[in-house]
Amino acid sequence: MEKDSYKQVSEPKYECLLFDVDDTLYPLNSGISAEVTKNIVEYMVTKLGIDQTNVTEMAVQLYKDYGTTMAGLRAIGYDFDYDDYHSFVHGRLPYGMLNPDPVLRNLLHSLPIRKVIFSNANEAHVAMVLSRLGLEGCFEGVICFETLNPTYNSSSANDDNVSELPKTPVICKPFEEAFAKAFKIADIEPEKTLFFDDSIRNLKTAKSMGLHTVWVGSSHRITWVDYALESIHNVREALPELWEAIETSHIRYSGKAAVETSVRA
Ligand SMILES: [Mg+2]
Repeated sequence: MEKDSYKQVSEPKYECLLFDVDDTLYPLNSGISAEVTKNIVEYMVTKLGIDQTNVTEMAVQLYKDYGTTMAGLRAIGYDFDYDDYHSFVHGRLPYGMLNPDPVLRNLLHSLPIRKVIFSNANEAHVAMVLSRLGLEGCFEGVICFETLNPTYNSSSANDDNVSELPKTPVICKPFEEAFAKAFKIADIEPEKTLFFDDSIRNLKTAKSMGLHTVWVGSSHRITWVDYALESIHNVREALPELWEAIETSHIRYSGKAAVETSVRA
C-alpha cells in the first residue's frame, strides 16, 4: 500500500489522454449524430438498394454490433467505396450546427499531458469537427478511419471463428484490433492512458485492454467505467489530478527524498 502511494506521488499516473470525437468533444444534443444517421440510412437505400421498410433499425443494429454501420454493412456482404460512403455520410453534414468551444480549448491547452484523437470517423470529418469547435492544434495526433484502414480490404465475411457475428474487414472501435493498432501507432502505454468516449462498448474493450476509462455524456459509473462525466467540460472537477502532472513530471527521475520534498514544497 505504501509503495502504491509513493508511486502516485513520484510518477504521473497518466502520460496520454486519448479522445473520441463525435458525441464526446461536443454533446449528443448538438444534432449532428441524428444527421449522420439520416445520411447513412439514405446511403443504404439509394446506393446499396436496401429496402426502406426496416432500414433505420438495420442501421442502428449494425452500428451496435460493429461499432460503425459501415463496418456492419461490410460484414454482411455489402461492398462499396469507403471514400464515397464518407463523402455521402459526413461530407454533407450541416457542420454549422457545431460552434466554437473556447472553454474546452482552454481546458485542453492547460492540460500538461499529451493528447491524441482516436475516432472511427474519416480524416476530413475529424478535421472539420475540430475546426468548427476551434480545437485545431490541441492534439498531438489523430488516429481515424484512414489510419486504421490504410488500404481497402476486399475480404468479405468469413466464418473461421466461433463468433456468432460475421467478421468485418473494417478495423474500428470497439474491436481490440483497433485499440492495439492505435497503441502502436501513437506509442501509447494503455496503463498510463486515460480514454474518453461516449460509447459504452468502446469503453468496455478499452478497459479490458488496460486503459483507464472516462464515459462522456453520462453521470452513471458502471463496471468498466472509471469516471463518468455529463460533459467533457466537467473534466477538471472530476479529474483535478490531471493538472497536477505539472508538479510531478519534472521530478519523476529524482531520488525518493527529493521527490517527497519537492511535492510538499
Ligand atoms: Mg463517439
